[in-house]
Amino acid sequence: MYRYDLHVHTSEVSPCGHLDVREMVNRYEEKGYRGIWLTNHFHREFQEMTKGMTWRERADFFLKPYREGKMLAGTRLMVGLAMEIRFLEDPNDYLLYGLTEELLYREGERWLSMNLESFYETYHDRLLIIQAHPNREGSSTPAELSFLHGMEAVNTSPRHDNGNGKPQRILATHPWLIPTGGSDSHREEDVGKGGIVTETEMDGEEELPALLRSRKYRVLEEEPAYR
Ligand SMILES: [Zn+2]
Ligand SMILES: [Zn+2]
Repeated sequence: MYRYDLHVHTSEVSPCGHLDVREMVNRYEEKGYRGIWLTNHFHREFQEMTKGMTWRERADFFLKPYREGKMLAGTRLMVGLAMEIRFLEDPNDYLLYGLTEELLYREGERWLSMNLESFYETYHDRLLIIQAHPNREGSSTPAELSFLHGMEAVNTSPRHDNGNGKPQRILATHPWLIPTGGSDSHREEDVGKGGIVTETEMDGEEELPALLRSRKYRVLEEEPAYR
């Protein structure tokens, strides 16, 4: 069995994160995970943080922990590129899988000023668009389902009321939607609580979208609160 965490932040790009990519890679290796996807925030704060840079420099800034993580992890842990985007006019968060450096450099500059509908229309065949923690108390509400490939069924962040039961009910009644899981790791205590499990190992990060479409994985359940 192979575990992969599909929702991990690092402090170089996500200022709310307390661990940098080196610390994340070490922690996930210790926990016996086979891979992690870096889903650093891409929203208004990213724009402010990178103010004055050219788009090329901004993209480099976003990609730095991914590149470093891949080097640090070698073949011991797969480090994948993803993004958690929040469009300027929408308070929800969307996880993007299947992201490549080339696509980010070429087209990423305009993404924040798009909306979910125009983004889905443009990218639905190139990226998987998964709503993160769709029912998180005080921050998210389920988006229009026809502009999504799926939803995070289990988000194990311990500092939020993630309301996982609600997206799980939506997923159960809309079986074409892809369910994912992730720790939403920002801090030490978040690491390695969520993700997906597969029977066969992925050979490369580019295999993730096909794996998710195939449904040949299981989403890690949330540990009961009493443990
Ligand atoms: Zn964050
Ligand atoms: Zn997140």
